[in-house]
Amino acid sequence: MELKVLPDYNTLSEFAAKRIIGVVREKPTAVLCLATGDSPLGTYRAVVAEGRRMGVDFSNVTFVALDEWVGIPPTNPGSCKFYLKEHLLDPLGTQSSHTHFFDGLSTNLNEECVKMDNTIRGVGGIDLMLVGIGLNGHVGFNEPGISPDHYSHVVPLEESTRKSGQKYFSEAMDLKDGITLGLKHFMESRSVIMMANGIKKADIILQALELPLPSGVPASIIRKHANGTVLLDKEAASFLTIK
Ligand code: PGA
Repeated sequence: MELKVLPDYNTLSEFAAKRIIGVVREKPTAVLCLATGDSPLGTYRAVVAEGRRMGVDFSNVTFVALDEWVGIPPTNPGSCKFYLKEHLLDPLGTQSSHTHFFDGLSTNLNEECVKMDNTIRGVGGIDLMLVGIGLNGHVGFNEPGISPDHYSHVVPLEESTRKSGQKYFSEAMDLKDGITLGLKHFMESRSVIMMANGIKKADIILQALELPLPSGVPASIIRKHANGTVLLDKEAASFLTIK
């Protein structure tokens, strides 16, 4: 695992965007798995702007979503699908045939999981996974204590995830479960980036990177990834002793 502490959010976002663009330039048919949330917003802005400036061809890239809220339709601006379309896929002009999302409204969520696992296998696995880290240390919706042996699965959400998830919605939502790629996908992804910014992430970053393993903090699994990069701004890194 590589740890990079960057001076501020903009620098962090530009760094992550360069990595994503680098993967696509090297492999125009790359498979990218991208998170939603506040953390990667600047990265997606930079991917769109830099991608245009450099004339990067994203038309053969496959995009796989990391997770989705169960029970939320894709037309809801708080859904993960809506977010990714709005902030990245539509600005890049991505064809829907190149994107794969969980259907949070499916009446057979287990089948959704099997479908997603087969899709990822069918496209040859994930080249780059970009994730944030929840205040409770989750990755996607892999909540604390989750086994590292899962592929896609459905998860009851922790109280802190339900609460912080409200920020995506214009009215109070009853967020009970999530559907998510598993930590096995994370470990099998050919490269991963985990990003965090701001002082509110400093404590969970300390736990994820410095607690003895197994720590129960899902994000700590990145320490075992041979091609994993943790990108932090100064504030998120401020409690670390290993900088
Ligand atoms: P955030 O969410 O980027 O909005 O902080 C991260 C997460 O919950 O995984």
